[in-house]
Amino acid sequence: MTCTKPTSQDRQTNVRQTLMARGVLGALLVVVSPLVACTSTPSDTEATTGKAESRLIQAPTLSMPFPSGESHLCTQGNGGGTSHNASTTQHALDFDTPNSGPAGPVVSSVAGVVARVQTGCALGNTSCGGGFGNHVRLDHGGSYFTVYCHLSSVSVAVGQKLGRGQLVGYEGNTGNSFGDHVHTSLHRGNASAASMAPTVPYNMRARDVTAGGVFSAMSSGSFICGLTTGHVYQSDNTCASVHDSLATARPLTNNIPYSGEFCHEGDIDYFAFSGNVGAFSASVTSSPESISDCACAILDAAGVELPPGGPEGYVRNDGFNGSEGCACSLASASGATRYLKLYAAMPGQYILNKTLPAGGPPPPTGGCSVKTVVSPSGGTYTGTTSGTSTESGSCGGGGGEAVYEYTPSTSGLVTASTCGSSADTVLFVREGMCSGGTELACNDDTCGLGSEVSFMATAGTTYFIVVDNFDTVPGSHTLTITPPP
Ligand SMILES: [Zn+2]
Repeated sequence: MTCTKPTSQDRQTNVRQTLMARGVLGALLVVVSPLVACTSTPSDTEATTGKAESRLIQAPTLSMPFPSGESHLCTQGNGGGTSHNASTTQHALDFDTPNSGPAGPVVSSVAGVVARVQTGCALGNTSCGGGFGNHVRLDHGGSYFTVYCHLSSVSVAVGQKLGRGQLVGYEGNTGNSFGDHVHTSLHRGNASAASMAPTVPYNMRARDVTAGGVFSAMSSGSFICGLTTGHVYQSDNTCASVHDSLATARPLTNNIPYSGEFCHEGDIDYFAFSGNVGAFSASVTSSPESISDCACAILDAAGVELPPGGPEGYVRNDGFNGSEGCACSLASASGATRYLKLYAAMPGQYILNKTLPAGGPPPPTGGCSVKTVVSPSGGTYTGTTSGTSTESGSCGGGGGEAVYEYTPSTSGLVTASTCGSSADTVLFVREGMCSGGTELACNDDTCGLGSEVSFMATAGTTYFIVVDNFDTVPGSHTLTITPPP
């Protein structure tokens, strides 16, 4: 291990005085004198706060530590000779902020937990906080942490959980700083230790305003910085609170994992699926960046959680994958609208893995015990209605039933008729599922004891045409199904 001894050059007082005399900048850079901290290189398995650490194996992608839309000059980049030349500072970036007026907000670059806070640094006390002045360290798991330095005031306390883009404090000029600016960097080591662990390279989302670029994740070493030659960079640091209600639920349409982000502790994201029949599962097992901890539930169309077990075999596991993950499943989704609710115990990014059962045609029985498959071109079928009544339509049907499953190959008006049958029939049609599916039409006795229904069908969709006995007297029927023209 090599330690870099700090030198007086880090202060760069002469440079500062020269530039200020020239009136080159309203605000000056600088930073941190490495009063530092010879820290051993942490191993990949080193943990600082425990629980979320072990599964994070990659550095988080950072956002700029400013609210979305703000632009700031980068005054000193990675390896900058002014003060970014010690192990604890070499991958840092300095962003200029105004020297006068109200101090601007500094926000978290990615979700994390406040691990250490330094306050009480008076202006001019250059060694305060190890030179970093008033500052905040945010633990991101995997022994990664970010720092926000030279603050005029700190707005958070140790243990507080922050999402991306949440207020950390206000920029300032405390510590080894000679002009308002924000010094920020990613480190690896013990976030809460008094000594500062070494910096590591990282990617930070930004837009190079000077070069006319677009937002991208830039490597920390690629920022062009300098008091007179630096570029201005714009922040897009925000965590979008989306899918936060049933009405804005994200449709589940495939089995590709979805990525999402819990913006704050207690954030809720909803997902929706309907018409899908069969085994459904969803789980959050790991987070590619930062810390997250979730719980989940599956709700019915009204937003009420399904009964555990129940007809659809609902299971929830809030302790999935250790204590951090969560998993919810249905052994057999009914095809009705279902919502998956994800709840964040900690902010951070997550990956939702899911197995979505097929939409479209439900299982052969559709939940009914008896069925006949009708040709797509329709036809005439004979049968009997006897036995126990398990289904009835909105217009009646107290006896046994015969169920016909029909999947037209073209869309249009379908007519089904039992006119002329000897049995006293009731006819109704359900979509998606036979038992519990949506009723499209119901008729009793439009033609003597016979019945007739018509409904608009969609090609490829399965409909259940139920010939029900009006009463418990069994009888025979003739069902004629006329397909769309
Ligand atoms: Zn700096």
